Amino acid sequence: MSRFFSNKYDALTPYTPGEQPRDNQYIKLNTNESPYMTSELAVKYASEEAKRMRLYSDPECTDLVKKAADYFGIETDEIVFTNGSDEALNFAVMAFCDEKTGAVFPDITYGFYPVICSLNNIDYTEIPLNDDLTLNTEDYYRTGKTVFLANPNAPTGVALPLEEVERIVKENPDTVVVVDEAYVDFGTESAVGLIHEYDNLLVVQTMSKSRSLAGGRLGYAIGNRELIRDLNTLKYSTNPYNVNRMTMAAGIGAFEDDQYMKDNCRKIIETREKTKERLKALGFILTDSKANFLFAKHPMISGGDLYQKLKERNVLVRYFAKPRLMEYTRITIGTEEQMDIYIRETEDILNGVKE
Ligand code: PMP
Repeated sequence: MSRFFSNKYDALTPYTPGEQPRDNQYIKLNTNESPYMTSELAVKYASEEAKRMRLYSDPECTDLVKKAADYFGIETDEIVFTNGSDEALNFAVMAFCDEKTGAVFPDITYGFYPVICSLNNIDYTEIPLNDDLTLNTEDYYRTGKTVFLANPNAPTGVALPLEEVERIVKENPDTVVVVDEAYVDFGTESAVGLIHEYDNLLVVQTMSKSRSLAGGRLGYAIGNRELIRDLNTLKYSTNPYNVNRMTMAAGIGAFEDDQYMKDNCRKIIETREKTKERLKALGFILTDSKANFLFAKHPMISGGDLYQKLKERNVLVRYFAKPRLMEYTRITIGTEEQMDIYIRETEDILNGVKE
């Protein structure tokens, strides 16, 4: 830290993203990217747009917003696009939390939530999940705080039924409930259909996972127009051109090529369920993940050891060196072939541990 770094960040521990190795030798199952290529239409639109890079991008994202509003059946002022959904989440903390209204989320959830709270000097409360990593809906009633709920949750993959999400929204009428649906396309019902009923519901989604655009950085928030106006106030006060031209064009292509996304999600779900069964047969204990990853522990090997041994065999998974998570690894669902290799190496490691 330089001697000039503001002391307002004394308590800040930055988020640690998953490894992004530069050499491409790993089977990369560590950051929940899609194993399938970006839609060709999205790539074509982005390439055409690259010719116009000289000019600033449209801060209102007009064409993309229109496309998305049609897609979701909402008005154009009920959505805002951001540089990845991480930016939407940060805007939500900036907009809806303060010294009176802190934030609340589970003790095991997306690790970026506590970071953006610290960044913005916001108090947060972490409510412990049950031992089986499920969540008690009632713990989130009448919180008096801004609720952050990843559905399905990360890194557990456990999903809440829409009725329970709605109940949480209903039971917090005077604070905003942010439903982070980064993994919703892999088999969870979205809360987007409820935004006209509840003025305190903000749904955040991303193109990073199901739409194979992690490197494009495109996320969005959908909600009541007043909430969206608040987020826009912050967007225009920090980075009005937050979505670049190529990404905006890619986003339009991705919405137009919706069937491609749905086909990929179907494949990923099939591979997930198959891998779940294979891991159970090897003695793993898993959550019922509805995301594009599995969260698994084995009585014979710690998460850290398994992560390290798999890495030595060029398979990269995610491991969290935190209480309650140390036993687990999180495995992104790759192609069938990638998962075959992952299973084979895992089985081999377990056999070595047994000997
Ligand atoms: N929410 C959750 C639950 C996530 O796991 C991630 C991915 N790290 C994000 C949001 C952010 O994704 P992105 O910024 O790529 O849209």
